[in-house]
Amino acid sequence: MSKILVLEDEASIRGFIAVNLRRHNFTVIEAATGEEAIEIIREQPDIQLALLDIMLPGIDGFEVCKELRQLRPQMGIIMLTAKGQEQDKVTGLEIGADDYVVKPFSPAELVARVNALRRRLPEQSTATLPEINSGPFVLRMGEMRLYKHDEPILMTPTELAILQLLMSHEGQAVSRAKILDTIWGPNYIGDPKVVDVNIRRIRLKIEDDPSSPRYIETVWGHGYRWDGMQVGQ
Ligand code: CA
Repeated sequence: MSKILVLEDEASIRGFIAVNLRRHNFTVIEAATGEEAIEIIREQPDIQLALLDIMLPGIDGFEVCKELRQLRPQMGIIMLTAKGQEQDKVTGLEIGADDYVVKPFSPAELVARVNALRRRLPEQSTATLPEINSGPFVLRMGEMRLYKHDEPILMTPTELAILQLLMSHEGQAVSRAKILDTIWGPNYIGDPKVVDVNIRRIRLKIEDDPSSPRYIETVWGHGYRWDGMQVGQ
């Protein structure tokens, strides 16, 4: 059973979310402030997912997201963004959220997004997963880690899932639609930009020069291609 933190200062919305997640067998821990949420995450290492509201009385949801990413790189994080606040979606993804849900949302939509994210999170059974070697990189999904020249790089579950998809298709163009389908699920109703924001974040972590990426190439009008071998280098 998955344990999920719900950070939302408005009690009625928080209650609505909690009731619906409990109905789908999640264990829900509620927090009304960002400070409280961080405290809870420190104390309860078995929380796998967090839903973070942005507008809060103390520190905002973005600050909480940054803090949680430091504390728990492999936690699944979904931001709850307000309708019309387009920039909030991108900001959330840039600082490490895995996804966002726009308010007001239906219980079905929320549960679908949470379940899609949960499928990307580490499980005990992944210990037997094979590793992927490519150039200076080793992707060990069992450990949920990427190594570059034997140095571990901290990646989020979403970033690792994208890398696994690209690296297992070395040299082949993978379409944005394929990435979206595989990682966020076939019925994703959010903004396809999530793919590009995640790619940008991955490049910042793995490329020698993120402004001229070599390992993840852009295939214009289509998607991305992994090239770990760097032929000719
Ligand atoms: Ca709020």
